[in-house]
Amino acid sequence: MLKWLLVIVVVAGIYYFFIKKKPLKTSTKSTMEEHSSEMVACVTCGTYCSVGDAFIKERRYYCSKECMEAS
Ligand SMILES: [Zn+2]
Repeated sequence: MLKWLLVIVVVAGIYYFFIKKKPLKTSTKSTMEEHSSEMVACVTCGTYCSVGDAFIKERRYYCSKECMEAS
C-alpha cells in the first residue's frame, strides 16, 4: 500500500514538473514569434512586411532593397 502511494507521488511529481515547465516554454516562444512577425509599413511604397524581413535604414523600414535605395 505504501509502495503504491510512493509510486503515485513520484508519477504526480514528474507529471506536475512537465506540466509546469511546458507553458513557460511555449509562452517564451510565442513572444519571440510575435516580435519577429510584427508588421511594419514600407516608407517608400507602403507595403507591409514583417520586421524580420524588412530592410532598416536610418530607423525606417523598407520592404525591399530597391525601396531603400529609391528613398
Ligand atoms: Zn517598398
